[in-house]
Amino acid sequence: MKIIFATNNKHKLKEVQAVLGDGYRLVTPYELGITEEIPEDRPTIEGNASQKSHYLYECTGGADCFADDTGLEVEALGGEPGVRSARYAGPGHDSERNMELLLRNMEGITDRRARFRTVISLILDGEEHLFEGIVGGVLLTVPRGTNGFGYDPIFVPDGYAETFAEMSDEAKNAISHRGRAVAKLAAFLNSRP
Ligand code: IMP
Repeated sequence: MKIIFATNNKHKLKEVQAVLGDGYRLVTPYELGITEEIPEDRPTIEGNASQKSHYLYECTGGADCFADDTGLEVEALGGEPGVRSARYAGPGHDSERNMELLLRNMEGITDRRARFRTVISLILDGEEHLFEGIVGGVLLTVPRGTNGFGYDPIFVPDGYAETFAEMSDEAKNAISHRGRAVAKLAAFLNSRP
């Protein structure tokens, strides 16, 4: 089954394709000639996921599609950076600067609990369905590891000693926020008659 996924991020595409399996062929907006940046300016993670899937749905004249949005929610910062995770340190989507700013804002804070939360909005046959995936963990004070992206080098998931950036893609996918949300999406798609 072909389904449009609202991302042009190769890393994410690989992650999601691995969880969904060979039964699905993910099509990117770029492949369809949709090259503009898809708007995501809502105040919540759910709102952004939904805004992106609806945008694609409209652009394609009603094709089946899904979009995800993720935030790192830090307990001691009242859920920040949350929906602003990608642009925490400014508009440039700069992971290094985002991590630096977060570590600075966490200086002296002993409660290091945080969670990644992903929401997927699927539009199938014109109807929207939402799927959520969460992984809890703690934030380090110094980054470790070179795999993954974003805040991976400072996030240690509950029950593990390594950061996401020290895990293989497979190990991370098996427990990650996005992996869990995509597993729910896959279960839903596979349960249809
Ligand atoms: P997006 O909605 O998936 O683009 O995620 C928004 C931001 O959250 C990204 O720019 C990253 O900074 C961060 N993020 C999302 N997923 C992950 C992840 O799996 N590891 C680390 N950071 C992530």
